[in-house]
Amino acid sequence: MKQIAVIGSGTMGNGIAHVFAQTGYSVNLIDIQQTALDKAMATIGKNMDRQISKGLLSEEDKAAALGRIACYTDLKSGVGSADLVVEAATENTQIKLQIFRDIDAAAPAHCILASNTSSISITQIASVTSRPEKVIGMHFMNPVPVMKLVEIIEGFKTDKAVTESIIELSKSLGKVPALTQDYPGFIANRILMPMINEAICSLHEGVAGVSEIDTIMKLGMAHPMGPLQLADFIGLDVCLAILRVLHEGFGNPKYAPCPLLVNMVTSGDLGVKSGRGFYDYSHGTKDLVVAPNFG
Ligand code: NAD
Repeated sequence: MKQIAVIGSGTMGNGIAHVFAQTGYSVNLIDIQQTALDKAMATIGKNMDRQISKGLLSEEDKAAALGRIACYTDLKSGVGSADLVVEAATENTQIKLQIFRDIDAAAPAHCILASNTSSISITQIASVTSRPEKVIGMHFMNPVPVMKLVEIIEGFKTDKAVTESIIELSKSLGKVPALTQDYPGFIANRILMPMINEAICSLHEGVAGVSEIDTIMKLGMAHPMGPLQLADFIGLDVCLAILRVLHEGFGNPKYAPCPLLVNMVTSGDLGVKSGRGFYDYSHGTKDLVVAPNFG
């Protein structure tokens, strides 16, 4: 595999493009918004500068990697010569199904179609294509250039040879692949999201405050970030969408999203990306300041 197309250039898409380009692959980065592509290229450049300052990358390697990324707003031209497509667009089932119908029509017959979805069924995504045996989940973690794990999800009809080639490809990126089957939330979010939801319910019930909950989990369980800070980082809308998939997929009330999470998303408090979640990010420093609602 040489030519990679990455669909969606948001938080995850720019990180995925960064890692492929840095490892020597040619990348077509595709988004419906030119402004998102411009922002992604600026972010990739900034993140590579951080790697340079840590001695992990040279200026020459940065220039070469950036030169391997081409931006497209037209999906058809972006995937026309791809060996692998990694879709990292908005976590919405209807959007993803339409994207997979479109890529299936435009990508070469040998091309493997991967999704970076956090929770949407790979089997359902595969079912709208004419090549379900070539559809697979490739779930990178945020921030992609830093996090080692790629959760690989085999859909109901994914060919074993396709799984093997994606495992090898992930290793070639310097990542550690872990294989799961296609059930709601796979493994990462099936375990992480109930923990985050429980933290939000504890806050909602007044058992402890934002700082206390995060401190207990950081210092008591050696988590690098508390669950509420992590939820802000992931995006509260993304957390809610994943909990809804778990709730609906298993039909078990234990996955019901906490009403406080629903209220926060409804009011536009989405975490880091909107400037406010459990913490307030509007002051422009790296200090953790609890949001006014919870102070
Ligand atoms: P994001 O909102 O930052 O970016 C999504 C991008 O997709 C936007 O730039 C949007 O313009 C683009 N887009 C929407 N529809 C499109 C289309 N039809 N064609 C091309 N581009 C389109 O979202 P994100 O946080 O990067 O999440 C992307 C995917 O990665 C989701 O499936 C999400 O569940 C998954 N994911 C997210 C995280 C995380 O921590 N944010 C972690 C792992 C996986």
